[in-house]
Amino acid sequence: MAGSLVGIAVGFVVLALVFGVIERLFPALRQPIVRPGWWTDLAYWIFTPLVTRAVTRVALIAAVLPVLLVAGQGLDPERIAKGFGPLSRQPIWLQAIEMIVLGDFLGYWVHRWFHSGWRWRFHAIHHSSTHLDWLASVRLHPVNDIANKLAIALPLVALGFSPVATAAVVPFLTLYAILLHANVTWTFGPLRKVIASPAFHRWHHTSAGEGRDRNFAGLLPLWDILFGTFWLPDRQPTVFGVEDKVPTHLPGQLLWPFRRER
Ligand SMILES: [Zn+2]
Repeated sequence: MAGSLVGIAVGFVVLALVFGVIERLFPALRQPIVRPGWWTDLAYWIFTPLVTRAVTRVALIAAVLPVLLVAGQGLDPERIAKGFGPLSRQPIWLQAIEMIVLGDFLGYWVHRWFHSGWRWRFHAIHHSSTHLDWLASVRLHPVNDIANKLAIALPLVALGFSPVATAAVVPFLTLYAILLHANVTWTFGPLRKVIASPAFHRWHHTSAGEGRDRNFAGLLPLWDILFGTFWLPDRQPTVFGVEDKVPTHLPGQLLWPFRRER
């Protein structure tokens, strides 16, 4: 526990330095560092690695093991680590590219799914930040987090990709998600339609109607272009948040999706 707290603190300080510099140099919007919601997001930076990650890990193992058993893989850790079938016999770099592309495609659809029906109340927590920056990236309800990871990991493992390689792709996408929320103007210029940028994802978070239900992709805007949800004008979004009355503190946000509207 103490060791993981030190690890979290070190990671946090490194990220704070990197993003502190780029958000000062290329700000999309001028806002104070300790802006509204700052303490709530800081609480998520402790809660997510300690609690959400542990719960998600248990859920993943519980869901992946039956898939491996059904696939006839048994429970031998060495055998599991290799994956199975023709996909697992490809070079690792090729598997990594395929897993990222397929994982991002699955991520697009699970994200879009969370924007409607009963799922929205869980995802609204993530959208409730009225001031968007790198710190706001981890504000995610555990149910949302578990569903995201299961929806991506289960199909990849069922296809035979190595679970170890799958576990390596997740931190990459997680780290990339922090950059996507950063308060910077970056569009990646000529690659604006190729790689998801902070400007691209900040439009996803705007409370203005023009950006609503747009830009669901976490890495490849291709999915938004293909499925008609791409939106990236030559401006920066200026308003963020949701119309729903989401509580402003972490315990309230954890309970809110389970509460009935009065
Ligand atoms: Zn969303």
